[in-house]
Amino acid sequence: MPKLVTKTAWQPIRATDLRLTGAEPGTCERCGRRDLRFLHVVKHPNGGQLTVGCECAKRLCYGYDPERAENRLRNLYARRSRWLTRNWATSRKGNETLKFNHEGETVWVTIFADKRDPKLFCCSISVDGGKPFFPSGNFVSADVAKLAAFDQLAETCEW
Ligand SMILES: [Zn+2]
Repeated sequence: MPKLVTKTAWQPIRATDLRLTGAEPGTCERCGRRDLRFLHVVKHPNGGQLTVGCECAKRLCYGYDPERAENRLRNLYARRSRWLTRNWATSRKGNETLKFNHEGETVWVTIFADKRDPKLFCCSISVDGGKPFFPSGNFVSADVAKLAAFDQLAETCEW
C-alpha cells in the first residue's frame, strides 16, 4: 500500500455474508482476523482491492457504516431462511405459487417444470399482473428455484 495515501481514499464496494456462500469463517486481509461471518470488499482509487472485516472497513472507508451493511445481510439471511416455509399454494396448473404484497404491489412467484427437461425447475416473478420475468436458468429442485426467485427479488427490490 502506498504510504502517502489517505485513509479516506478507500471506497466500499460490497459486503458479503459468508454464511450464505458457505465460506464462513473468513479472514481479514488487513489485520488477519479469522472468525468473520461478513467480509467487505474495499477499493483504492489507485487500484487494488482488499477484503476486510468490519473494523478494518470502518477504519479504511470514511463515512462507511459496515455494521449497518452487516445488519442488512443478517436480516436478509433470516428472511431467506423463512422463504421456503412461507405460504406457498398450488395453482390450477399444479405449480407452486407464492403471492405477497410488497410496498403496495402484488408480487407473484411461480415455480414450474422446465419444458425442455421436466426434471428441472424454473421460476417466474410478476408484479401487479405484469409481464413475468425469469431469473436465468433452471434449477435442480423446486426449493433451489424458489431461492433463486428470492435472490432475484432481493436484488430488484433492494431488500
Ligand atoms: Zn481487519
